[in-house]
Amino acid sequence: MTASPADLVREFHLAFGLHARSTPAEVPPELAAHRGELLAEEAAEAAEVAVEGPLDRLAHELADVVYVAYGTALVHGVDLDEVIAEIHRANMSKLGPDGQVARRADGKVLKGEHYRAPDVSAVLRRQGWIPGGAA
Ligand SMILES: [Mg+2]
Repeated sequence: MTASPADLVREFHLAFGLHARSTPAEVPPELAAHRGELLAEEAAEAAEVAVEGPLDRLAHELADVVYVAYGTALVHGVDLDEVIAEIHRANMSKLGPDGQVARRADGKVLKGEHYRAPDVSAVLRRQGWIPGGAA
């Protein structure tokens, strides 16, 4: 894949006159609810084929989940790639500086002393979000 899903989904939203914002903000409740329903629908379709497959159907439904998630982010003006990068940074900080995974005796991966939780609020504020601001 050469483009981020964000670019593809933005193209789709613009072509079909769907909502799109360029800065993060809360959206009207009806729109937020509609996006929530789309997400739930696609997540349910993916869950339905998660075990039994077939694999091509699972791949299709996983892509639908991601597509709708990016679309929902776009509707809210969120640059989801930057949020994912922050989540990834936090996940990778579970590794110690020596590249070793801290594990409990029973094998559970521990967050370790170098773990830094994701700060999604900071990412959105950098994108122009004003918490509690008007939509
Ligand atoms: Mg689907």
